[in-house]
Amino acid sequence: MLDGNRPDCQRLGLIRKITPHTSQIRKTAAVLAGKATGALSRVTRRGGGTTLPGDVARAIDPNILTKLAADLTKGSVVITGTNGKTTTSRLVSYLLEGAGNTIVSNRAGANLIFGATAAALNRAGPGGKLKADWGVFEIDEASLPKAVDEIRPKATLVLNLFRDQLDRYGELEAIAKKIEHALSRMPDQSIAILNADDPRVAEIGLGLPAPPLWFGLDDTSVAAHELPHAADARTCPKCGASLIFDAVYVGHDGVYRCPNNDFERPTPAITARNIKLDGFDRFSATIDDTRIDIPLGGLYNTYNVLAAFAVAKTLGLEPAYIAERLKNFSAAFGRQERLEFRGRHLNLVLSKNPAGFNETLRTAVDLAKGTSFLIALNDRKADGTDVSWIWDVDFEHLKGNATVVVPAGDRAHDLAVRLKYAGVPAAPPETDPGKALDLLIKLTNEGDTAHLLCTYTAMLDLRAELVRRGWAKPYWET
Ligand SMILES: [Zn+2]
Repeated sequence: MLDGNRPDCQRLGLIRKITPHTSQIRKTAAVLAGKATGALSRVTRRGGGTTLPGDVARAIDPNILTKLAADLTKGSVVITGTNGKTTTSRLVSYLLEGAGNTIVSNRAGANLIFGATAAALNRAGPGGKLKADWGVFEIDEASLPKAVDEIRPKATLVLNLFRDQLDRYGELEAIAKKIEHALSRMPDQSIAILNADDPRVAEIGLGLPAPPLWFGLDDTSVAAHELPHAADARTCPKCGASLIFDAVYVGHDGVYRCPNNDFERPTPAITARNIKLDGFDRFSATIDDTRIDIPLGGLYNTYNVLAAFAVAKTLGLEPAYIAERLKNFSAAFGRQERLEFRGRHLNLVLSKNPAGFNETLRTAVDLAKGTSFLIALNDRKADGTDVSWIWDVDFEHLKGNATVVVPAGDRAHDLAVRLKYAGVPAAPPETDPGKALDLLIKLTNEGDTAHLLCTYTAMLDLRAELVRRGWAKPYWET
């Protein structure tokens, strides 16, 4: 899907017959063809039809996203980062929607440029005009330059840059350079909103021609004092010295400085202070000068809410309104979801890379006092085909805390080996999602809570199994 989108379109026979005379005709044709493809793929249930319409429309009119984005009455926001894009995009959309705006946003994990195009098409009328006030687009880090060039957003948010499961050999450095280049070319009135606590993001922001809006946490009571061993980006971008961390919040995000005084965390303009965490259920914090209380758990979500607040305030929403509206927010599909299954409370959490996994483990064990776990690891393209990153996850944290651990997913056996080295007693590995759920039910009691920590496609598999058994709705219907 990344490149070479033509074969799909040629197969569908949509290109050759169209000879566009003007930019508007081309746009309308692209919209109609994209919309037809979307309808077709929903009927055939090709995964909810989230990106194919984008492929088709872009093949007909490569400038389609720029043209559609220009139709938005108020503008766009682009959100990127390794972790937290979906939740933060949902938060921003939810805040804008509650203030009476119509929103176009790409959902269901289709966050490449094709997904953003498909989302815009979906809201375009038959005349080819996009009818919405705001666009809220979550975009993969690698696609950010293209997205910024095409969408011309009013604000671009960078949440964090963690080493992902797909990046073990330095691609992240190249991506950071690309993001810096993209942000430095943004239109004059647009602003970069950046996480000051992330050394890689700070490095990007300090190189920009226009000053970004920095946000960060300011509460050492929720900080750890050592980096988890999965953390990367520990060296100063100026002189290469190891950074000193005075506080560590999530992964390598915290309060840091270079011992040679040539690089330090930028002072955030918007902070979260006095943070009170309550497991996976909720947290409260003073953001800017407003007390926020929201039914979302985990310190990583404090970053997402802080970032969404920074965006919303920048776009003109009142802090008092933001606080009131956030009280009733519910989590994005699949990032965290609660289901009742045979009397057990299942807490499904997407955990797709070492930084994310360590945070969900920490929240499940330390804050939610979790004892039952199903951990599902797949190695398909969307998960990352190299699963060696599990050796960077601190599964040791389960030792002495977890009483039930079911290793599941296509690579359940690799997980079982990792858990054995961590000294964590676990059930036999189970690659079949249905059997893994059955095993979890067998090992737990009615009324128990079990945490299901899964990579992306492993989560889809488990969810599909739950749908089959009638416990959850297919995701394109939620
Ligand atoms: Zn230095």
